[in-house]
Amino acid sequence: MTRKIELHEGHPRYLSLLAREKLVTGFKKGLVASEGLIAHGRGECFDYLLGECTTDSARVAINVASAMLLLARYPVISVNGNVTALCVDQICGLNRSLESSAVEINLFYYTREREKLISEEFKKYGLTRIFGIDPENLVPIPELESNRRLVDRDGISKADVVFVPLEDGDRTMALKQMDKQVVTVDLNPLSRTALSSDITIVDNIVRVLPQLIECVEYNRKHSSENDLKDLIESFDNLNGLRRALEVMKTKQVPFQ
Ligand code: ATP
Ligand code: MG
Repeated sequence: MTRKIELHEGHPRYLSLLAREKLVTGFKKGLVASEGLIAHGRGECFDYLLGECTTDSARVAINVASAMLLLARYPVISVNGNVTALCVDQICGLNRSLESSAVEINLFYYTREREKLISEEFKKYGLTRIFGIDPENLVPIPELESNRRLVDRDGISKADVVFVPLEDGDRTMALKQMDKQVVTVDLNPLSRTALSSDITIVDNIVRVLPQLIECVEYNRKHSSENDLKDLIESFDNLNGLRRALEVMKTKQVPFQ
């Protein structure tokens, strides 16, 4: 028997419950791995401590991320099952607003079937070309031994900047060893991904993407190349992580 819970916007956990529902629906459709549900739970815990909102330091990181993506020669957006279930439409929106970018599928718990379903989901949202799915075109990342050591020779392999939200630490570190600039979204400021990326946005991906698209569009119109370079140069990732932890530590107890 299936149980249907009514979600309404006035509920204090509305957005969090909505995200859970998207993940569970994605899991039932075969887009999300069972382990992805657990990873989402780890993210939720940090989000709770953040107060489920975009902090000032995350806002700064989003703006700097938009600068790095705009200055990139060839930025690639790496997606997995959780990212697809939560925000396939906004990923397509970001890809459109960047113009010179591409999207690549990259699964930690790989199955051919899940990869195919994810690629079909992106096609439904208007993406005509998706990388990482043609076995003939995959090349190994020398540092990694799992099946995720493969990247697309026309996608991540050629990219100068890789946007990898909700990524595993081994993979992020391997991308750094390949001399890629790495931008991530990770609610855990202590994860290896958060610590080893060039720009870590400590916030929920669901809140980040609309703001990131807005910053890309604003900076494209109003900022010069030098303005964008200055933004990146003045950014200190570890300081951003410290500030996120500070917010979590000082969360107020809502009762006397
Ligand atoms: P690492 O491998 O980097 O040390 P980990 O093993 O703890 O981290 P992974 O499962 O490899 O975690 O990566 C998933 C990351 O995504 C986690 O740090 C989790 O907190 C984060 N995360 C999950 N859901 C979201 C979300 N909706 N928005 C942002 N971050 C999220
Ligand atoms: Mg990990």
